[in-house]
Amino acid sequence: MMLAQPLAADVRVDPVDHARLVDADDAPGSWLTHGRTYYEARESRLTQITVENVHRLGLTWYFDTGTRRGLEASPLVIDGVIYTTGSWSKVYANDAATGEPLWQYDPRVPKAWGVNACCDVVNRGVAAWGDNVYVGTLDGHLVALNRHDGVVEWKTLTIDASRPYTITGAPRIVKGNVIIGNGGAEYGVRGYVSAYDAETGELNWRFFTVPGNPSEPFESEAMSMAAKTWTGDLWWEVGGGGTVWDSMAYDPELDLLYIGVGNGAPWNRHVRSPGGGDNLFLASIVALRPETGEYVWHYQTTPGETWDYTATQHMILADLQIGGEKRRVLMQAPKNGFFYVLDRETGELISAEKYAEVTWASHIDMTTGRPVETENADHSVEPRTTKPSPIGGHNWHPMAFNSRAGLVYIPAIEAQGVYSTATDFTYQPGGHWNLGQAGGGFGASPPTLNEDLLKGIMKRMASGHLIAWNPVQQAEAWRVEHVTPWNGGVLTTSANLVFQGTGDGRLVAYRADTGERLWQTPTQTGVVAPPISYAIEGIQYVAVMVGWGGGAALSITMPGTAPAGGGRLLVYKLDGSAQLPESVALAPWSQPPSRRGTSESIGKGSALYNAHCSRCHGGALLSSGLVADLRRLSSEQHDAFEAIVLEGALSSIGMVAFDDVLDEADVEAIQDYVLDGANTRWENAQSPEWWRDTKAWFMDMVAAVAVAVLF
Ligand code: CA
Repeated sequence: MMLAQPLAADVRVDPVDHARLVDADDAPGSWLTHGRTYYEARESRLTQITVENVHRLGLTWYFDTGTRRGLEASPLVIDGVIYTTGSWSKVYANDAATGEPLWQYDPRVPKAWGVNACCDVVNRGVAAWGDNVYVGTLDGHLVALNRHDGVVEWKTLTIDASRPYTITGAPRIVKGNVIIGNGGAEYGVRGYVSAYDAETGELNWRFFTVPGNPSEPFESEAMSMAAKTWTGDLWWEVGGGGTVWDSMAYDPELDLLYIGVGNGAPWNRHVRSPGGGDNLFLASIVALRPETGEYVWHYQTTPGETWDYTATQHMILADLQIGGEKRRVLMQAPKNGFFYVLDRETGELISAEKYAEVTWASHIDMTTGRPVETENADHSVEPRTTKPSPIGGHNWHPMAFNSRAGLVYIPAIEAQGVYSTATDFTYQPGGHWNLGQAGGGFGASPPTLNEDLLKGIMKRMASGHLIAWNPVQQAEAWRVEHVTPWNGGVLTTSANLVFQGTGDGRLVAYRADTGERLWQTPTQTGVVAPPISYAIEGIQYVAVMVGWGGGAALSITMPGTAPAGGGRLLVYKLDGSAQLPESVALAPWSQPPSRRGTSESIGKGSALYNAHCSRCHGGALLSSGLVADLRRLSSEQHDAFEAIVLEGALSSIGMVAFDDVLDEADVEAIQDYVLDGANTRWENAQSPEWWRDTKAWFMDMVAAVAVAVLF
């Protein structure tokens, strides 16, 4: 769609080339690449907004995406235009000063493809080169758009569409190579990263992260090396995982591209690689030559990964004084709970310490560079409760590094997972949430939990905070406790400021050196995206996408979160005076159709629901509001229940048929469970408020005891 408007006459419009990207630090008013510069530090050099005046920050314009799913993008600002992306890989271009819409692009991703996305139908932004911007779409395409009018220059399929691959990450562009990975390791894919010619869309190279069928020739020497660390034959049938679904960085001096590699598929190493082995390059940081994809070095954070401990988390390049000398480092806080400082020329481990509570390993051995696993790491015989959880001590939410304060800001999570080994694992192809059975999950059995108790346990089992981490001392400098575990990415500025949005619906500014809270404003919905800052005609702006969602938000209801919906790009400046419209209240609950079924069928339905439906509709029927809350279904919708679940009556809006894993009796049991939960919720809501409060308090106490005993 084109809504072309002429750009302001004094805005320069130059092609984005290698020199401009390498020198991005010299253009502090722009935000030219995902992490602002190739070093990905997310540290703005702008200083108009200060510790003293940040309290004057106000909304200056906003843009409605019209969506109610997660918004995770880091916008780019180039030549006066702000480019961002939203749910279903849509791209938006607005005048960065006024917010005027310039153009939009909708790749029309088939909604049914959404079932292949483990972690919501999100997108983390575009990359720019020449006169184009580039977006990876959920259904695996890479699209070049003319950045002045949004016209498609080329579009290419980057995946094997018979496999449940998805793209949610932002591309990076190095010397005309558009670098893009993908996701899907939860469902069974083989990970790789590809480079496409920015002008023509031709594939220049592809680097696989895990080996394929060992009876076929390996694609590279790196794969030949990696294959020696795998055993059995299940892995290549399932795919092995190792997807490069988010983080990359580039050092122009060393000419090294760094990619972060994800978890194994299936999760459980005893199932995936029964004879043991490190399973390269799972959970690794790999350095490649950006023009050829040639392997240079790797560092594996979690050898034999088995907990969904991806190393896809944000990587920051910086030059630090360590032990009296300047070290060129790469820093990452992957899911496994350790903060790593590596020499980015060689991959040598400089230091690693716990930034979160960690029970699977005692420490990293500095001689071998490997973690020393504890007894807790072995869940081959009995289930183990382990920290971090599959959500990680830190997930995809970008960190930031303030070079003056010398601190890295980590959007951190404390949570525990229960891991066990399925003895009956069978691989089911396609986008069904089936690999988790070989890995575990929260482990608390939903049929025995009611809503209040589950919320109480969630409150006590998981928390979120912003940690300021000194990477030289490997020590925490300060922390801010948040209301919810799942919060936004981070921006820092040279004016001693840190900005972060929160899951309970605020954008907050802190002092970078002390963590003192200086300013906050309501955003009406939860924030998971990272803010950016830019300047137009001498005015500094702070921009952030707001829209509750993402993997953890989709499947787990977290107490205290702001409602889903109201997906927007919000832009602030000093003395900004725009107002958000009143938020639209959710429709009131109405009485559900009557209960039916037996306790047996409801119990069966609960088990089936929580195995097949909870990923999107919420564990134990507690919907996050991103996808339909089944407790709200009308009697007409209940009449169509079987047609929806088995025949795909709503596949055009993303609810695909589950006839390959469920039969009519299964669906009837699930419906019994849904009706039972809907009626329980309705009855509770009819009781007086004092009784609900008393019960909630009581359940909170029970939850405290349950957490203490169970975990
Ligand atoms: Ca994963």
